[in-house]
Amino acid sequence: MNQSLFDGFLIKYAEIGVKGKNRYLFEDALVNQIGHALDSVDGEFTVKKESGRIYVEAEKKEYDYDLAVDALKKVFGIVGICPFIQIEDKGYEDLSKQVQSYIDHMYPDKNFTFKVNARRSRKNYPLDSQELNRELGSDLLDAFPQLKVDVHNPDVMIHVEIRPMINIYSLVIEGPGGMPIGTAGKAMLLLSGGIDSPVAGYMVAKRGVKLEATYFHAPPYTSERAKQKVLDLAKLVSCYAGPIQVNVVNFTDIQLYIYEQCPHDELTIIMRRYMMKIAEHFAREDKCLGLITGESIGQVASQTMHSLAATNAVCTMPVYRPVIAMDKQEIVDIAVKIDTYDTSILPYEDCCTIFVAKHPVTKPNLNVIARSERKLEEKINQLVQTAIETTEKIVVGQ
Ligand code: ATP
Ligand code: MG
Repeated sequence: MNQSLFDGFLIKYAEIGVKGKNRYLFEDALVNQIGHALDSVDGEFTVKKESGRIYVEAEKKEYDYDLAVDALKKVFGIVGICPFIQIEDKGYEDLSKQVQSYIDHMYPDKNFTFKVNARRSRKNYPLDSQELNRELGSDLLDAFPQLKVDVHNPDVMIHVEIRPMINIYSLVIEGPGGMPIGTAGKAMLLLSGGIDSPVAGYMVAKRGVKLEATYFHAPPYTSERAKQKVLDLAKLVSCYAGPIQVNVVNFTDIQLYIYEQCPHDELTIIMRRYMMKIAEHFAREDKCLGLITGESIGQVASQTMHSLAATNAVCTMPVYRPVIAMDKQEIVDIAVKIDTYDTSILPYEDCCTIFVAKHPVTKPNLNVIARSERKLEEKINQLVQTAIETTEKIVVGQ
């Protein structure tokens, strides 16, 4: 492992909506999530909350800088990651030397404009913020004559913070934004192997919601590989959302029974209604406050406004559909960004496509659907009960 220049990272987070008591919940959750994210990174880190700031301090300079940054880029709630060096206060001369040496290491090519942005939070420091800006700026120009000052639009903003210790940083790496996981309750994601549902889960998790997932598979019509693909997707989402319990429901007998008893053009809708009911059962059992799907208006027959209404009618919990008004390409763009796309497009069969009718209804009528579902009365409750009892629960991303 290389020695990193930086002593750690100063974490910037948006403070909107996190005033008063909520602020502590927000910060504590953020500290926890950062700790969890760095668990898998080589190095020893301490995450500290200190006077309205969060610091990640590397105990030793040997740590995997790139992996640490990658991990922090996946922690919701962070808006900026600033790799910093921290020095003791040994007087102005020493500070000026340290700033010069930092700039020299960071920017071998000195052909840029800069501005010093000093902040004296400790009032007993002999120079105030303005004096520091001036003195440090002029010392830098003496040391590196190619540099130029630009106070309005500098290429490099050099931050110097005088606290008990002194922080120096000039990089601000963009974080994912959002709210820390665990600050907004839990929801149940209906996770298929497609492109849309992992993105939907990511989007809701970004608002601080912890995820649980339910996947319906139909062996032997759907393979072990199709199931593994869904678990892999859950694992990728968990890089952002933290550990996810995936409930793998064996849906084969329910699908076959619907296939036997009901008109084939209504199969998808009826199947989807049972998926929602079963997902809601687990959601209630595990104290989720809502369901999440990757539905988008008009994408397929089962996602017309009429079909969505028919599916929604069986749910008593709120159903969150974050990609409802997005075009496929917009969803794909997010899938690429969060790294689920390549897994999503692996060509394994899906339980919905196997039993799909050639001409599914696009304007299902609730009364008609209810009449068809009456043909299931004899066995369906028992089949649902068995599906629930035989569900396999797998936790990914621990
Ligand atoms: P996706 O890309 O998410 O698979 P899709 O365009 O294939 O979406 P549908 O197959 O109609 O759409 O499914 C709509 C939504 O229903 C999915 O986004 C997902 O939330 C849920 N869903 C579909 N199939 C399953 C399944 N086998 N297990 C769990 N949820 C599913
Ligand atoms: Mg699908």
